[in-house]
Amino acid sequence: MPDITNALTIDFEDWYQGLEIPPSEWGKFESRIVGAGQRLLRILGDANVKATFFVLGAVAERHPEIVREIGAAGHELGTHGYSHTLIYNQSPEVFREEMKRALGAVEQAAGVRVLGHRAPFFSITKKSLWALDILGDLGVRYDSSIFPVMNYRYGIEDAPRWPYDLVAGGHEMREFPISTWRVLGKNVPIAGGAYFRIFPYLVTRTGFRSINRTGRPAVFYLHPWEIDPQHPRIDLPRRIATTHYFNLKATEGRLVRLLRDFHFAPMKEIINVS
Ligand SMILES: [Zn+2]
Repeated sequence: MPDITNALTIDFEDWYQGLEIPPSEWGKFESRIVGAGQRLLRILGDANVKATFFVLGAVAERHPEIVREIGAAGHELGTHGYSHTLIYNQSPEVFREEMKRALGAVEQAAGVRVLGHRAPFFSITKKSLWALDILGDLGVRYDSSIFPVMNYRYGIEDAPRWPYDLVAGGHEMREFPISTWRVLGKNVPIAGGAYFRIFPYLVTRTGFRSINRTGRPAVFYLHPWEIDPQHPRIDLPRRIATTHYFNLKATEGRLVRLLRDFHFAPMKEIINVS
């Protein structure tokens, strides 16, 4: 098999921020992002791997010290938006204002320029492709949000499966779609998050191998709370609770295995953007 380097990405948000709970209620939950982030930094440090951290703007404003720590450890810093809102439910004006604030928060915390964006809930769909124009206009050089599957919350089923160039807001950008494994004419999501915990590890490994055998890189994504199985249990709508809490105990061991089985680097190095 060719020696392909894949993109390792972290959607850097606290455990309660990706649960469709309004930001106005976030204050009542225990913040665990610093501890979970430091644990993740140790795992990556032990494996000697660098990643891209797509940091939520609200996290960067409240905990700039952990964002600085991530940057100082040699990882790439990107943006995950400001308030973890589904982009297709926002107006372009609100998206632009939040994105400016999110970019400013990460750049101020770590003193680096942000090149890349990952949408909350992968919510750049056919209804919200306008968001790419705004990202291009604000100087973002690449996006990694489009998931070529159909999910109740996200997906562009017929989108390209491999990185490609596009022009957004009059600027050249690259899109690195979330990786899928093509099985029996269907795109199967294997690239991380809940799928990494629900399917046996061998499914991810076989999927990654099959992508790398085509000579192309895959992208893997994870959240810090997925290696923090002790985070609080709260009542959630069942469709959210079943995936959020599923098999959290297995994540860290599987991540360590994945980092042994494949080569990884930050996304900007894989798609050659600077
Ligand atoms: Zn997220």
